[in-house]
Amino acid sequence: MFQINAEDILLIYCVLILALLAGLWLYNELKRAKPKSDLSMERLCRCKNCSHIYLISRYETMSRCPQCNDLNHVTDRTRI
Ligand SMILES: [Zn+2]
Repeated sequence: MFQINAEDILLIYCVLILALLAGLWLYNELKRAKPKSDLSMERLCRCKNCSHIYLISRYETMSRCPQCNDLNHVTDRTRI
């Protein structure tokens, strides 16, 4: 017959609580990792200095490259 004592019940309880907390943490991390940008309001831009491609707002006329920190004047040539 299968016997279970108080220590085993406490251990199972602690493991279940930790699994629940780990699941909630993982759910929160996955929920937070989703991109929140609206791509219809953004365009791709290529840096004239380092050729890094990054997102800018559709209405931006000047942007700073996130890689080399160079200021780019956004024209139709720099938009992709
Ligand atoms: Zn750059």
